[in-house]
Amino acid sequence: MPKVSNKWPRPSQSSLQRRVLRHPGRIWVLLILGSLTLNLVMIALLASLYEGEGTPSCKAERSILVAEEKKSVVAAPQQQSTAEELVSAEEISVSSTSGKRPASKDAIINLDHGDPTMFESFWKEMGEHGDIIIPGWQAMSYFSDVTNLCWFLEPEFAHEVRRLHNLVGNAVADGHFIIVGTGSTQLFQAALYALSPPDAPEPMSVVSAVPYYSSYPAVTDYLQSGLYRWAGDASMFDGDAYIELVCSPNNPDGSNREAVLKSRNGKTIHDLAYYWPQYTPITDAADHDIMLFTVSKSTGHAGTRLGWALVKDKNVAKRMIKFIELNTIGVSKDSQLRAAKILKAVSDGYELPVSQNNHRLFDFGRQLLSIRWQMLQEAVKASDIFSLPDFPLALCKFTGEKTGTYPAFAWLKCEKVEVEDCEGFLRKHNILTRSGRHFGVEPKYVRISMLDRDETFNLFIERLSMLHH
Ligand code: PMP
Repeated sequence: MPKVSNKWPRPSQSSLQRRVLRHPGRIWVLLILGSLTLNLVMIALLASLYEGEGTPSCKAERSILVAEEKKSVVAAPQQQSTAEELVSAEEISVSSTSGKRPASKDAIINLDHGDPTMFESFWKEMGEHGDIIIPGWQAMSYFSDVTNLCWFLEPEFAHEVRRLHNLVGNAVADGHFIIVGTGSTQLFQAALYALSPPDAPEPMSVVSAVPYYSSYPAVTDYLQSGLYRWAGDASMFDGDAYIELVCSPNNPDGSNREAVLKSRNGKTIHDLAYYWPQYTPITDAADHDIMLFTVSKSTGHAGTRLGWALVKDKNVAKRMIKFIELNTIGVSKDSQLRAAKILKAVSDGYELPVSQNNHRLFDFGRQLLSIRWQMLQEAVKASDIFSLPDFPLALCKFTGEKTGTYPAFAWLKCEKVEVEDCEGFLRKHNILTRSGRHFGVEPKYVRISMLDRDETFNLFIERLSMLHH
């Protein structure tokens, strides 16, 4: 064992420490005297607080004040935990089974997230049409196109966005500014920022009709902004100024939606993440003030974290761009270049001769989802425990055919009287879903992702089929 030398005092050793070591007895006496003096001072202070001063009612008032002070100390973390609970509605549910394939027949099946892994097999088939190589020296600058209002928007990406909307006919892109975002989640926050007046006496109320997408309350309130705050179900809202979020087709229940509030002072944000032909018939080209889209749900590239907004008003567009400047100084160019290539491959699949590209994303998605919906409907019918919403057929202007609706999520209701908590009931069978309470409704409902890989989905149907009345 190497010996520690006593020759030099250790650099961190204070002079007090050194004196303690040299004269331990003297220091102890000093410490005891100090502590006695402190105690005497404290006793004198407490006595002056509790004795001789004021009437009993004064004392009572004081104790109420003390109690209120105590309460407010407790209230602050409570407020914080409310925001955390809201966030957990969408985020904390990340678990060891998220994004994984079930390893065995009785493994946990995680259908809680809308992870779009069902599209992987399509992109494997697509091969090099979807590949990109970015040389080390490329896409290094912050700036993409300083002549564009949205200076961090890659022109190739903007071009492919317009091309795809023109091909599908699901939204009017002409006459709208394109703003790119880190997922449509960032664009949603940029839109809230843009639509909330900076000098209003009260935060702007943000509402959406139930059942609403579980991220809306969490993302609106997590920073406890002074500009806007979550105000719940749009149908119950009583006021003139608001921002209404309209998700159509709706996450979680797949319904087609319009704004429920109609005030002239109200603003709307249309979240059209699922308005693509694999999920729903394209009945019209949407033409709203702010429309949000994302590659997560259109092509399945959730990991690219890229979304875009189509925005009519220049000033609103400018404020959204300002938000993204302040938030992340623009949006990943690498992601935009990849997304441009992905969107190009989708459009090419429909516009180029079959010999050059015969991979049709929306056909693939619709066929697979229609099979899955049929399997689910049969399993649900046989179980006699659950029910699902019905969807009408409609003429799809993209396919030119009458097509069905095959939402990205199943909105399952547990009809068993004794089961109040459907999520808990399914969890006992190792099936993870998201409870209706995250969407502002009763826990008899759960949301189930329809977008997972074949093996996960098939195992889910197998397990569901074993549940009987
Ligand atoms: N809006 C809706 C309705 C969604 O379902 C999702 C994804 N679950 C998003 C927005 C977020 O999309 P992104 O991955 O682009 O942030």
